[in-house]
Amino acid sequence: MTVTPEHLRALAGRAEAITAEVRALCDSAQNGSPEQGHLMVARQAADWLARGAEDLERSAAELARLQAQPCGFRWGVCPEHGNTLSSRAGVSECRVCRRTWTYNRLDQPCGEPVTWKVIDRAGTETKMCDGHVLGARAAAGGATFIRLDAAGGQQ
Ligand SMILES: [Zn+2]
Ligand SMILES: [Zn+2]
Repeated sequence: MTVTPEHLRALAGRAEAITAEVRALCDSAQNGSPEQGHLMVARQAADWLARGAEDLERSAAELARLQAQPCGFRWGVCPEHGNTLSSRAGVSECRVCRRTWTYNRLDQPCGEPVTWKVIDRAGTETKMCDGHVLGARAAAGGATFIRLDAAGGQQ
């Protein structure tokens, strides 16, 4: 299976919840009661759990950075509509959804995350984003389109 940042974040959330539970339990012991002094180890465990949650979050962030491989096509697109941008006076706008970008997106390499693998009839593989795959679908007859998260056995 493909490990996603969401998996790690879910575990981090559980570790945080357990940390809070352990601390609340320790705090519930009455001051000066005999068990108070014996809960030191449990409090330390809560600190370790808190650190573990932070590490899981960090790992999730690293994985997200790794998986967000940029598309890299030489021109930008609307992430939802593809080759629908026009640029004027340094502002790009999608003709369909009217979303705007305050730079000439058409002039910059595409930084959207790669989500598709396209194999043309000659067997050449190209990875691209949701927006660029729309143009490729329109242009490339006989190509194979593989959604990358599907290729990883997810969904
Ligand atoms: Zn659009
Ligand atoms: Zn792209």
